[in-house]
Amino acid sequence: MNLILFGPPAAGKGTQAKRLVAERGYIQLSTGDMLRAARKSGSDLGRRCAALMDAGQLVPDEVVIALIEEALAANSAAPGFIFDGFPRTVAQAEALDAMLAKHGRKIDRVVRLEVDPEKLMQRIAKRFAEEGRADDNPEAYKVRLDAYTAQTAPLVPYYQAQGKLVGVDGMADVETVARAIAAAIGA
Ligand code: AMP
Repeated sequence: MNLILFGPPAAGKGTQAKRLVAERGYIQLSTGDMLRAARKSGSDLGRRCAALMDAGQLVPDEVVIALIEEALAANSAAPGFIFDGFPRTVAQAEALDAMLAKHGRKIDRVVRLEVDPEKLMQRIAKRFAEEGRADDNPEAYKVRLDAYTAQTAPLVPYYQAQGKLVGVDGMADVETVARAIAAAIGA
């Protein structure tokens, strides 16, 4: 089972991905986590992406595509992958389909966490207070939401056309969302 958790920033994708990892042994591939790790390590890549990330803008497609390509190759025996925060553009989605095909895999389901943007603003303000992620500040978060609307939302028809999209109420509590995802992926 290869799954995309889809939704705007702070919809709860990371939380749900981590549960699926713990319960099913899937590998979580979060480009946001990979980029944050690159920054922490002080690598060239991390330095090149830092300003874009802090401003809430997307980093170039080729950067995240290369990170995913490397991770797929390094985890070829994985029982399944959960993509969290990737793909975020149609070009990334097309590249992902091609990369998975090379490994004899495909995306089975795209679970869309349906959320209320107003309430998300409150959720993100809380995360900013607790974790202090620079891109959770209200201005950067607004840019991230705008990037989602302009560049990522067009993936909805892309995956709808492939018959892979299922919607889940992302505003429910963590347990309820987890149960809904399990039902959506038929597990
Ligand atoms: P996230 O934790 O998924 O919200 O990602 C944090 C930041 O990393 C984003 O605001 C972007 O700057 C960058 N990023 C993460 N994933 C991607 C992606 N798939 N495409 C472009 N930029 C990304």
